[in-house]
Amino acid sequence: MIIGVPKEVKNNEFRVAITASGVHELLAHGHTVLVERGAGVGSTIADDEYEAAGAELVGSAEEVWKRADMVMKVKEPVAEEYHLFRKDLILFTYLHLAAEPELTHALIDAGVTAIAYETVQDGRALPLLAPMSEVAGRLSVQVGANVMTAPAGGPGLLLGGVAGVRPAKVVVLGAGVAGTNATAMAVGSGAEVTVLDINVDRLRELDAIYSGRVKTVVSNFLEVEKSVLEADLVIGSVLIPGARAPKLVTNDMVARMKPGSVLVDIAVDQGGCFEDSHVTTHEDPTFKVYESLFYCVGNMPGAVPNTSTYALTNVTLRYAVALADKGVRGAFEADAALARGLNVAAGRVMHHSVSSAHELEL
Ligand code: NAD
Repeated sequence: MIIGVPKEVKNNEFRVAITASGVHELLAHGHTVLVERGAGVGSTIADDEYEAAGAELVGSAEEVWKRADMVMKVKEPVAEEYHLFRKDLILFTYLHLAAEPELTHALIDAGVTAIAYETVQDGRALPLLAPMSEVAGRLSVQVGANVMTAPAGGPGLLLGGVAGVRPAKVVVLGAGVAGTNATAMAVGSGAEVTVLDINVDRLRELDAIYSGRVKTVVSNFLEVEKSVLEADLVIGSVLIPGARAPKLVTNDMVARMKPGSVLVDIAVDQGGCFEDSHVTTHEDPTFKVYESLFYCVGNMPGAVPNTSTYALTNVTLRYAVALADKGVRGAFEADAALARGLNVAAGRVMHHSVSSAHELEL
């Protein structure tokens, strides 16, 4: 199979869908890998490294898309890439179609076989979302702490306080992969941390790990309200797989929050879990809602492309190899987790949460 890796074109997206090791592995399985020239530069992977591993460097994204049987990307295609879709193309990337009606229709209309990293599901685990959620979760506290400083327009609060000065109160909504990593960083910074989830088993695990250092609270409207009204920093990290995020923090709550409080919505790529969340960019990451600051960057791991590229390709490669070796049908038959990644094929939506988000027939 010919696998194509174009350079990412989304604003400030410096990750790339394959490393030199990945190229080497696919070649060892008898495949051809096309990499757009400069695709790895943002992750400090030079063209030479790809070439040394056996990749064919290609001058334009168009050529990669046209020649490849399977295109591997990081982020969902942007509108300027839709014209490159075609019937016999396999697209393997993050898609987040529940929040992307135009892209969903473009994939359906072109008849692309679109496999979404984020819906590959092994039991309850989402193995291709997990590493990026780890990165975003850890980064959320770092960016939140930065936005809380006075030069960044925040309340001038140090997350951990100092001896004799109260630490900031951090509330984490959703104790999954991102939330657990945010919790670890917030605890490590010395903040006072409360974690909410609807899954009591997750809360039990955190309670056992932190033995009283973290407050765990079951998530419901009143408990969310009570927690965010006391918070200096709220991290939104909930997920209902493949569906739009539930709006847990209403504008009415935000209006009553502490002035200068900071809300980081990691779940913004699924529509966001705060009422007024909308996707922002690394260039202009925050906006004000009442007296609070929202940070809603949709591709947070893009800020740390080195770490993120390696974390992502560590987990995507084995699925890419399976798709290339066995073809879509064979790979799906051999691996039910990968089969759950299918979102669109043969002009139809194939994933239930995408169909319900856009009221399209399965
Ligand atoms: P996860 O499935 O591991 O965790 C989600 C958690 O949310 C689960 O524990 C679930 O029980 C909980 N939850 C669901 N409904 C809830 C509710 N009403 N109240 C409280 N908790 C609730 O998911 P994850 O991998 O941690 O991902 C979290 C979000 O982060 C996703 O939306 C994902 O797409 C997003 N994400 C964003 C970026 C970014 O750059 N912005 C990067 C990576 C991941």
